[in-house]
Amino acid sequence: MKVGIVGAGMVGSSAGYALALMGIASDLVLVDKNAALALAQAEDISHAVPFVSATTVIAGDYAALAGARVVIIAAGVSQKPGESRLELLERNAAVFRDVVAAVLRVAPEAILLIASNPVDIMTQIATRLSGLPPQRVIGSGTILDTARFRSLVGRHLGISPQSVHAYVLGEHGDSEVLAWSSARAGSIALGSFADQVVKPLTDEVRLSIDDGVRNAAYKIINGKGSTYYGIGAGLARIVKAIAQDQCDVLSVSIVTAKVADIEDVALSIPRVIGAGGVIADLFPDLDDGEYQSLNRSASILKERAESVRL
Ligand code: ADP
Repeated sequence: MKVGIVGAGMVGSSAGYALALMGIASDLVLVDKNAALALAQAEDISHAVPFVSATTVIAGDYAALAGARVVIIAAGVSQKPGESRLELLERNAAVFRDVVAAVLRVAPEAILLIASNPVDIMTQIATRLSGLPPQRVIGSGTILDTARFRSLVGRHLGISPQSVHAYVLGEHGDSEVLAWSSARAGSIALGSFADQVVKPLTDEVRLSIDDGVRNAAYKIINGKGSTYYGIGAGLARIVKAIAQDQCDVLSVSIVTAKVADIEDVALSIPRVIGAGGVIADLFPDLDDGEYQSLNRSASILKERAESVRL
């Protein structure tokens, strides 16, 4: 399967590296407005390939994306001094206007996988610009936040993250919602599991896990400027579900007809992902507080998306 990546910066190239290591794609094509950067990243990633897989990695222009089944869009511009979040958003929307049209001209069948931030808004914009059904325009959303949640809960309980079933819902960002009430370890309600292994989930533990999930990116950015390995692997994980038609349940962002009381908004809930993109949306059982928090997150995102001029 051919996979394209538009935007060969830190996030795009990390996704490419993860895809090459996982051996998911037969062909990987990197495109960037900075052609020299795309070429350098493709060369570097291609030198990792002989150790692990047989992926062909090249840099190219948009024409090289012909036949791609998935195109990751990680292109974007960074904030200028004094620039407001909305101004930045509008410049990124302008980037997407060019990129989405150029991708669909050569790869009209592709599933678009959106990685640029703020990812929920960019997913809503890409859906609007492309005219594609929402099931084919997937934002990485809270895939990483969910992974962090599982890993911190697993660490507390002394079990692997894979044995924790829990999701982060809503915005990939400050208003996200950790769905504690529906979380399970094995098949057991989280609180009961924690009591049985004598590692109770006290309010203090929950607050510290919430903080660890919600503020993980800020801590990494303080230390190294930006985050990319985690999201790179998360993007590769979504591509794997599509490439192998795995029908995996992953928390990703797509435009959704209704979430809590809000209509037509892009945010994350668990969804089934296979060869055609998102096959089903899943609405976890929530307690009242979680429902209200999800409603708030959805209304923040809806308002922000509507404020962007296209
Ligand atoms: P991140 O950390 O999110 O990956 P970077 O700045 O490292 O951020 O990467 C963003 C990439 O997007 C840059 O390499 C930039 O050249 C690229 N880019 C910006 N605008 C466009 C565009 N219109 N078309 C293609 N690539 C673009």
